[in-house]
Amino acid sequence: MNDFAKKAAYLRGLMEGMKLDPSNPEHKLIAGIIDVLGDLSDVAEELLLAVDDLDESTEELGDSVDEIIERIEDIESELDYFDGFDDDYDDDDDEIHIGCPKCGTAIEIDDITDPSDIVCQKCGERIDLTADDEGYEEIDGKSDDEDDE
Ligand SMILES: [Zn+2]
Repeated sequence: MNDFAKKAAYLRGLMEGMKLDPSNPEHKLIAGIIDVLGDLSDVAEELLLAVDDLDESTEELGDSVDEIIERIEDIESELDYFDGFDDDYDDDDDEIHIGCPKCGTAIEIDDITDPSDIVCQKCGERIDLTADDEGYEEIDGKSDDEDDE
């Protein structure tokens, strides 16, 4: 019981000891005030309990968030670890080349190339890799250049 509830209960005890006369308007007023105080102290009690629960929930939520952040950091460092491998891989093999069907020049295909609209840097030929019946083959750019010369 909180202090407010204790005081309200004490006042009610005093009132009951006074043997109030219900037909006396002043006594009626006092009894009414004591009643309201009792109701208010009940509400205060519930609110205090709710705040305690909320505090507990907030603390648990904070712990969960901490765990999630920790896990995300773990995943990020794992990703960084694999990114290291990716970088090595990219240096050697990320770029692929196809031969231009018109002039034979090697055309670089990378992540940002639109496979349905590739333009030959040399002759301006437009190539659509998504039209799969054309039969373009992936070639090695460097050796293809050497073959041409
Ligand atoms: Zn070309």
